[in-house]
Formats: sequence, C-alpha cells, structure tokens
Amino acid sequence: MNYKRFLFAILILLIIISGIYFIGRENPNNSVSSPEPSNNSEVTKSEGSEFLMDTLVRVRIHDENSEQVLDEVLNKLSYLEDIFSKTIEDSDINKINLNAGVKPVKVNEETYKLLEETNKFAKITDGVFDPTIGPLVSLWGIGTEDEQLPSEKKIKETIERVEYKKIEFQENNKIFLAEKDMSIDLGAIAKGYAADYVISYLNEKDVDSAFINMGGNVSVHRDKVDGSLWNIGIQDPVRNRGNIIAAVEGEDISVVTSGNYERFFIEDGVRYHHIINPETGYPARKGIISSTVISNNSSYADALSTSFYILGVEKSFEIAQEMEDVNIVLLTKDDKAYVSEELKGQITFTVDDLEIIYR
Ligand code: ADP
Ligand code: MG
Repeated sequence: MNYKRFLFAILILLIIISGIYFIGRENPNNSVSSPEPSNNSEVTKSEGSEFLMDTLVRVRIHDENSEQVLDEVLNKLSYLEDIFSKTIEDSDINKINLNAGVKPVKVNEETYKLLEETNKFAKITDGVFDPTIGPLVSLWGIGTEDEQLPSEKKIKETIERVEYKKIEFQENNKIFLAEKDMSIDLGAIAKGYAADYVISYLNEKDVDSAFINMGGNVSVHRDKVDGSLWNIGIQDPVRNRGNIIAAVEGEDISVVTSGNYERFFIEDGVRYHHIINPETGYPARKGIISSTVISNNSSYADALSTSFYILGVEKSFEIAQEMEDVNIVLLTKDDKAYVSEELKGQITFTVDDLEIIYR
C-alpha cells in the first residue's frame, strides 16, 4: 500500500509540475491571449506587460499570430533596453559613458542611429534637448534616493559638461564622447524610438492592429480590429493618475506626454522635477505643467514633448508649426490648454475647467 501511495504521490507531483510548466509557457511575460469577435475569425488578441525602460510597458496585439508577434515585440523592447539603458552595465550607453574622454566605443546600429536622431532634435531646439544631459540628471538625482537641491556653484560646474556637439560620430558605428565626466542619457527619447522600432516591425509583419503603452507614451498601429479609430487619453497632470483631460482619436499615431507630476520632489514649496533646462541647469520653469505631442512618429513626439515642456508656449508653437505632422497640447499653470488648430475635430476635452485656446 505504501508503494501505491508513493506512486500516486509521484503522479500528482508530475501533474502539478507539468501544469506549472504549461502555465509558464503560456505566460512568458504576464501575457494572455484570447480569440476575438471580428469579421476574421482567425484574429486573436494577445496582451502582455513588462517592466522595461523604467516603466510599465503594455502591449496589445490583434492578429492571427498575435502570440508570436507579442513575444517578438517584447523581445525587441527588451533588446533596446539592454543597449540604451545607462544603468545596465554592458549597455552601449554605459560603455560610451565609461569611456568618455578615453576612447571611442563601437555600438549597435540602433544606438548609432538613435544618437544621430538626438542630434537632429538638439539642433531643432537650439540645444534645449540635449542627450548629454547625464551629469545634470545625476546631480539632481530626481526620483532616486539621492535627490537634492544642488548648490548654484555645483550646477554651474555641471552645465559645462553638457554639450551635445561633443558627441563624435565615427566610422564603423563608433561613438566618442569627447570629454571625461560627460555622459549620455536617452530618457527623453528612448521610449519613442522603441515604439517606432516596434511599429515598423508590425508593418513588416502586416499585423492587423496593435496598441503600445510605455508609461504614457502611447502608439497605435492601424485602426482597431472593428474598423473604428483608437481613442487615446491625455493624462490629467493635476488630479490623480488615471484621470484624463482629453481624448485624441486616430490611427497610426503616437501620443506622448511629458509632465512634472511623476518624478519630482518639493523643497520650500518649490517643485523640482526631472526635465532640466541645460541652459540654466535647473528644472524647466516656463509655466507648462504638461506637454503632449501627437505625431505619426513616436521619436518626434517623445523628444519634442520633453523639449516643449522646457521651451514654453510661444517657442513650442513656432517649432511645431514649421513641422509637418507635429501637433501639440500644452497645459499651463493658469488652467489653459494651448492646442494646435489641426487637432480640431480630433480631440475632445473631458474637463470643463480649462480655457481652450486653438492656435
Ligand atoms: P518620461 O520619460 O518621464 O516620460 P520625458 O520623455 O519627458 O519623460 O523624459 C524625461 C527624461 O529625459 C529625464 O528623466 C532625463 O533622463 C531626460 N532629460 C531631462 N532633461 C533633458 C533635456 N533637456 N534634454 C534631453 N533629455 C533630458
Ligand atoms: Mg520625452
């Protein structure tokens, strides 16, 4: 009898182990799949989430191969995080930073391309967007245990180490950061670049429809499976997380918001947040509390939403109006929303205590 019991116990154990194994296989990244009611009975929906690039990334794929596509998308995002992160030890960016003023570093093609792209935004914004913001970001340490209000002297010294023109682009994907103690930080653009990277894969694979949310950077691929447009919310920077102030309708668009409501500390009644003006060395103070950019291109949306936050209303509209496919919603401290004229009919405000100014 003991023998029988033993066999029975082993059998139960095997069933449990194989159960765990299969559940594990089906949920590689907290993902779930389900069939989808649509014209095309083959289309399924797969959803997954993962903590990547310092934020919770959520992906929803609608396609006949939704599961494989989801897996591949999460793999791609994780690859980009591995090369762009400044905290992962052997990332391209960390290698460049460690070798600043020492020697050029050979990087992956994506890193080289993204750095070239940052150059473009630095030029458009007259250096307000600066990928070599690293030393200032570290000095302030916003969102880390070491956050502090630095001395004026320290800030002045640190500004000297921020200068995008000192990124040297060399042959064979080599990057050289010309001076010691400089460092690159791609926090203002990496998520946008990653979203574009994924979208181009979805296009290549002719995927039916997809929704990607990287902590408030939202990109949608095509329209929804039922043929209607996506509705993308713009977060309320004042009230609690989760509330929205407006919804933007569209397909194949990216909506990216920069704000001071997530990473900040308050000292003597002043709110110090994580978007830093490289000219002053201080967090931006142009009266904007949230800056949203809507564009087909998520890198543009990401880099420019951060830049516009620093630049203020006038300069931002000047830049946006010169560009094709860059529309903006800027909320100011005094409860005004400055909105690109082109968004009329595409945006619906869901709160009534804002003065809305189209221009
Ligand atoms: P989030 O990533 O919080 O959504 P942003 O896209 O606006 O917000 O990026 C903010 C991040 O960009 C900061 O945490 C920092 O890493 C980096 N950053 C801050 N100031 C600048 C700047 N002037 N130019 C480029 N990058 C910046
Ligand atoms: Mg940004």
